[in-house]
Amino acid sequence: MRIIITNILLILGISLLNGQDTEKVIKSIFDAALTDQTAYKNLEYLCKNTKGRLPGSAAAAEAVEYTRQALIKAGADSVWLQKVPVPHWERGYEECRAISHILGIEELSISALGFSVGTSADGLLAGVIEVKDFDELKVLGKQKIEGSIVFFNRAVDNTLINTFAAYGGAVNQRTQGASEASKYGAIAVIVRSATNALHDFPHTGVTRYADNVTKIPAVAVSTVDAELLSRWLKKDPSTKISLISTCKNYPDTWSYNVIGEIKGSTKPNEYITNGGHLDSWDISEGAHDDAGGCVQAIEMIRLYKTLNIKPKRTIRAVMFMNEEMSGTGGREYASEASAKGEVHYAAIESDRGVMSPRGFAFEADGERLEKLKSLAKWFAPYNIRDFDKGGSGSDVSPLRSMGTLLIGYIPDVQRYFYYHHSANDTFDKVNIRELQMGSAASASLLYLIDLLDM
Ligand SMILES: [Zn+2]
Repeated sequence: MRIIITNILLILGISLLNGQDTEKVIKSIFDAALTDQTAYKNLEYLCKNTKGRLPGSAAAAEAVEYTRQALIKAGADSVWLQKVPVPHWERGYEECRAISHILGIEELSISALGFSVGTSADGLLAGVIEVKDFDELKVLGKQKIEGSIVFFNRAVDNTLINTFAAYGGAVNQRTQGASEASKYGAIAVIVRSATNALHDFPHTGVTRYADNVTKIPAVAVSTVDAELLSRWLKKDPSTKISLISTCKNYPDTWSYNVIGEIKGSTKPNEYITNGGHLDSWDISEGAHDDAGGCVQAIEMIRLYKTLNIKPKRTIRAVMFMNEEMSGTGGREYASEASAKGEVHYAAIESDRGVMSPRGFAFEADGERLEKLKSLAKWFAPYNIRDFDKGGSGSDVSPLRSMGTLLIGYIPDVQRYFYYHHSANDTFDKVNIRELQMGSAASASLLYLIDLLDM
């Protein structure tokens, strides 16, 4: 009898919550997000006080403690740290000059790539060979390349509206260029920054050395200086580069994922995760990438608590550590979940910047995808309309093997790569209203997915 009554109440509850009431709850989430500055203030703190949050750094440790406290203040039922193994790489002194007996000397704006080995303290001086891709290396061969610096200068394709696809079309120069050039005896690589912008900021990111290649120094150069170097090489092919970069790899160390949750009311053993990554590149405040995603997740906890929303499932905000260098935070989160036999129902990641929300990408197919796409109707009043199949994010993707519904937060991405992995990714580049809209959008989506058992 009790079960029947409970079921009737549940059915009544759900039907009451359909239609007008659901609309009201979503409006209340947007209203509360759009009239509060907590997330923006959290973002300001992370940008201004924990700039350069590379895993293993003091700034990362400070960010871990700050977000732990922010989750407590947001009202999370419980907050804890999850230990994560992380690499430890540090930038050193860096300096790069183009030297031509015809054109003179020009300082180039560079930034060593993550995991890169350094030069000696005296640096190196060598001729430069410009290429656009790895096939050109093959054509030139060891004879032409040995002893030189290889300059990868393939620009991102600015005609692509999907800026992530444009980035994807250029970024292998950064991730594999050093390894590929090293096979032909290059002594260093300079890589054109993978950005849509033509500006003076170098954009860093990881480079990965293949096994059995000599590790050679790798730096990114700003797009403006990539153009300059290319011009100089046409006018004076004997132009040389002098490069000093004393960055260094250290033994692995430890850091933490920061997790806060609201216990589920009726299905506490099922979990829904909302996450961003707490680490950032050392040269960057990491505002859009990805302190913004972190504060949006914390804001969801604050919104649910303020509005007294009681999710059926346990809802978590997770600040993942070490997305940028090797993704250990995301893998640790999934492996502990799997070891404990936790059921992870859904997980969303915000790691495409925190510009104005456009919609969500779902890693789903068939009937489930159609159902998820139908949720767009609740978001039309907020001009959030793009609900479609697509990728989620690298921190939540290790949950895929557990059958978790994976979701990506999709903002407008036209400006994202102007900031990404550079000193240009600062607090002032985030608009408070766009940040608030994004927080409300993700909190509302997870509310619906939980409510409607999507
Ligand atoms: Zn990121």
